[in-house]
Amino acid sequence: MRGRPPRANPSNEGVIPGENTRDGGMGGRPGDAESLGMDIGIIGGGAAAVGLLDALAREAETPGAVTVFEPSPHLWRGRPYAPDLDSVLVNAPPVIMSIREGDFEHYASWLGAGDDAYVDPGIGRPLVPRARYGEYLEHTAEKAIADLRERGWQADVVPAPVVGAAHAAGRLALRTGDGREHVVGQVALCVGGGTPHDHYRLDGAPGFVGDPYPLARTLDDVPPDSDVAVIGSGLTAVDVVVSLAARGHTGRISLLSRTGMLPHVWQRPTAHRPQHLTVERVGALARDGEIALDHLAGLLREEMSDAGEDLDALIADLRAARTEDPVARLRRQIAAITAPEIGRRVLQTAAHTVGPFAWRLLPERDRDRLRAQARTAISVASPMIPTNAVRLLQLFDAGQLELLAGVRDITRDDGRFAVETAHGGRHADVVVNAVNPSPHAVPASAAGLADDLVGMGVAARHPSGGLLPADPRMHLVGDLAGGGPFITSSIPGLAVQGAAAARAVLAGP
Ligand SMILES: Cc1cc2nc3c(=O)[nH]c(=O)nc-3n(C[C@H](O)[C@H](O)[C@H](O)COP(=O)(O)OP(=O)(O)OC[C@H]3O[C@@H](n4cnc5c(N)ncnc54)[C@H](O)[C@@H]3O)c2cc1C
Repeated sequence: MRGRPPRANPSNEGVIPGENTRDGGMGGRPGDAESLGMDIGIIGGGAAAVGLLDALAREAETPGAVTVFEPSPHLWRGRPYAPDLDSVLVNAPPVIMSIREGDFEHYASWLGAGDDAYVDPGIGRPLVPRARYGEYLEHTAEKAIADLRERGWQADVVPAPVVGAAHAAGRLALRTGDGREHVVGQVALCVGGGTPHDHYRLDGAPGFVGDPYPLARTLDDVPPDSDVAVIGSGLTAVDVVVSLAARGHTGRISLLSRTGMLPHVWQRPTAHRPQHLTVERVGALARDGEIALDHLAGLLREEMSDAGEDLDALIADLRAARTEDPVARLRRQIAAITAPEIGRRVLQTAAHTVGPFAWRLLPERDRDRLRAQARTAISVASPMIPTNAVRLLQLFDAGQLELLAGVRDITRDDGRFAVETAHGGRHADVVVNAVNPSPHAVPASAAGLADDLVGMGVAARHPSGGLLPADPRMHLVGDLAGGGPFITSSIPGLAVQGAAAARAVLAGP
């Protein structure tokens, strides 16, 4: 289906008015979808769109129409899961990489036994190259589209970005980059978080890599003996370091960070299931739609105390993340991969399960308390995989890798880059930008579209960033959805959001 050009309306050059141009040749009667409002335009074709389509295919009972707009040549893979180096691995075990809501085995069954070569010795589960996970997304989306077509749906992909929107006689007209208009009944915005911000205004400088993915392309031009500075010390920076190492890089690699913190390290999953820090308990404790952070901490305390553990010790350890030597901490965490304590595991799981629900119930002052600890919270919620942690430690121990905190500025200096930190300077031949945009940032690729949707009154800007639907025809899936916590949506979160959007679409505006 990829690359099928949109059909032009001969009576109105450049306008593709949804159902009017759809031939209904797959079982649906022309006009059905439009009259039911079940005529949806999905903007962005990454993991969020796949979760939505999969749920749509499972729950749709009557025919409709769906058009997916995606300009990238790697349809269904989004930013992270396009073809890339084998060193670029998924960051979570199969049970939490299923894009199908409520079916935790969906991805594991697709994976089968063929990927056992990728079993991470620390986690004891396969962690495959992200490009392989992209094949799973492709397979899931193509199966969903085939199922929908079998049930009389019209399904199209338009290989162009949506750059603007307007009202069109009770419907919504989406304008694509090629100047055409596509009229739909409902819109799902699934545009992701976009590319890194250029904090030091280095764009265009020779040797500056503004967006590291795909690393297969961007690292190709990096001389193996060059000094490389990586902006950031989160998961993307870890991808860059292990990929440079996998390519036999011999030059110095400096991670530049404001805080000097690395992500925590994944611990091997255990059979423990939370009994207290659950959505149900949080819901029951909420009073007048509000719950205090101290009550959430109380639930975690109960959880840990049942296991004979002490919450205060965990809090002290997390506080130390700001001051402890990051290499010593990394070494300790690697030693604790198979440790039996549940505390950090519960916190990590809760960040993705209870977190998005509880966040909306917290008073603003408690949200601010959490925001002040965002770096630590993110590093616990999205830890690095043991394979990468061990590789990083080897590079630190060999003296090839360093972590510089307190970065103040990076400038061009006589054909190289000068890095200024609170503790002195450095020079680098290559600078790789590995800072991810904050969740709820509007990606540059959708900025004009977001302005139009807000201007039309079908979406509203959330005061803390991102958009909210302001019209029943408008749906948002992924990090652009405002009002949630500051932790990037993981695959299970996208699956839940995608399924909720599918149900709302099918219910009709
Ligand atoms: C590098 C990286 C690695 C990650 N690894 C993991 C992991 O291992 N496990 C996990 O659980 N989570 C991971 N995540 C988090 C999450 O799974 C991903 O962010 C996920 O890809 C988000 O999917 P998405 O569809 O919302 O956004 P994206 O993947 O960013 O897809 C958005 C799509 O929208 C398209 N688009 C943008 N603007 C427009 C427009 N105007 N018109 C049409 N199309 C447009 C883009 O081309 C893109 O294809 C990772 C995130 C990143 C950034």
